[in-house]
Amino acid sequence: MANGQGIANNNSLGGDDQTHIALGKALLEEIRDFAAVKWPEEACGLLIAAIDTPNRIDRVVFARNVAEDPLTTFEIDPQTLIEAHRTARQKREQVVGCFHSHPNGKALPSPTDRARADENGFLWLIIATEHNRAGDSGLYRIIHQSTADAAEQSELRYFRRCQIIDR
Ligand SMILES: [Zn+2]
Repeated sequence: MANGQGIANNNSLGGDDQTHIALGKALLEEIRDFAAVKWPEEACGLLIAAIDTPNRIDRVVFARNVAEDPLTTFEIDPQTLIEAHRTARQKREQVVGCFHSHPNGKALPSPTDRARADENGFLWLIIATEHNRAGDSGLYRIIHQSTADAAEQSELRYFRRCQIIDR
């Protein structure tokens, strides 16, 4: 595939800022192909890593999008979600992130994505799709930051861009 955006040929997991995520090129291509085939619907699934190496994606779980309107949003099949968590526990793995596609061709997280990103530190991989082709890919980590003023109990929430390292 021609698109290699954001992929560096670097085997080191370097950086202690949690923004360097190892994701093999073959695995990324699998996700991109899956997303492309699902166009014009949003494709979705989960990113799985070993407990000890949460910044290295070992495998993905492809899910059914059970959203009422899969053209504009996604909802991972709850059954798949439960099974993925159970299997991960048994294999000393964890669900470290999710992926979904944006059939509008934009790989940036939407305000809806941010509103739904309730798990602090969760990885969000977004694949832009257009006419059964995968375009840009963007990987982000959602950061929840409590504000200094505890009385307000408000929380700042933003996506931090991550770099995909071909493992
Ligand atoms: Zn989205």
